[in-house]
Amino acid sequence: MNILKKCNLCGRNCQINRYKEKGYCRAGSKIKISLVSLHKWEEPFISGTNGSGTIFFSYCSLKCVFCQNKKIVEGYGKEITIKRFSQICLEQQRRGAHNINLVTPTHYAPLIKKGLISAKKEGLSIPIIYNTSSYDNISCIKLMEGVVDIYLADLKYYDNRLSKKYSKCDNYFLDATSAIDEMYKQVGKPIIKNKLLKKGVVVRILVLPNHVNDAKKIIYYLYTKYKDNIYLSIMNQYTPVNKCRYSELNRKLYEEEYIEVVNYACSIGVKNAFIQEGETQKESFIPNFNLTNV
Ligand code: SF4
Repeated sequence: MNILKKCNLCGRNCQINRYKEKGYCRAGSKIKISLVSLHKWEEPFISGTNGSGTIFFSYCSLKCVFCQNKKIVEGYGKEITIKRFSQICLEQQRRGAHNINLVTPTHYAPLIKKGLISAKKEGLSIPIIYNTSSYDNISCIKLMEGVVDIYLADLKYYDNRLSKKYSKCDNYFLDATSAIDEMYKQVGKPIIKNKLLKKGVVVRILVLPNHVNDAKKIIYYLYTKYKDNIYLSIMNQYTPVNKCRYSELNRKLYEEEYIEVVNYACSIGVKNAFIQEGETQKESFIPNFNLTNV
C-alpha cells in the first residue's frame, strides 16, 4: 500500500517506509489489535443499550505522558489480515453492536478503509466511528471520506506548550483543529435516530488537573466555531494510573475544577454537550486488553 511506503498519516510526518522501518508510533504494515468488545461506557447515544462495537488498535502516534492505555501504546496486540478485520466488523454487528468504534485508528487508516469497504459489501450496515486523538493529517481524514459516519475526536490541548510538554508535539492544536474541520465538512450536523447517533462529530475534552483554563479555551474555540452543530463531551475521568514525571498531573481532577469547566460551557451557551456524573475516575473503567474476540 503506497501510503505506508512514505507514511505521513499523522502530524509526526515520519515519511518512512513502514514495510521496512518503524516511525514514531512503532506500528508496522499490518493491522494489530488488542481487544474487540461491546463497550458500554461511551457517550449514551453511542453505547446505547447493547454497547458500542469497539476495536482497540495497538500503538499510538501521540503517546501522552498521562496515557491510561500504555499496554497497547507500547504495542500489545495481535497482527491480523485485512480480511480478518472485515470479519471482526461483521461479528461485532452480529453481536448487536450499535456501531463499529475504531479506537486510535490513524496509523492503520488505509488498511482499515480497505477492510471496511469489503465488510460493507458483505452486509456491514451499522455506523462507523473514527475515534481519534485528532493528531491526524488532513489527508488521512480525507482518505476516510464516505466510509466513516461519526467522528469521535479528542481536542486535548489548546496551548501548544502543553502539547509539547505532555505529548512531545508543538503543532497539536493546528493539526487537530484542521482535522476536525475536515471531519465536520464530511459528515455535517448530527443525525440522531432512536436515541442513537447515526452521523456527526463529537469532540471530547478531557479536563486535566490544574489545567481548567486550557479546557475552557478549547470549549470557547469549538463553540464559537461550530455552535451546536457538533456535540461536546466534557470528561472528568482523568485517572493517574502510572506516576508521571509532572507532579501537577499526579492526582485526579477535583470536583470543583470540573464544575468550573461545565459552568463555563453553560455560561457561553453550549447546549449539545455531555457531562460525566458519578465515579468515573476508576481504573476499573479502563478496558482489560487481552485479545478477546481478536
Ligand atoms: S502514523 Fe504517524 S507516527 Fe506512525 S509512522 Fe506514520 S507518520 Fe509516523
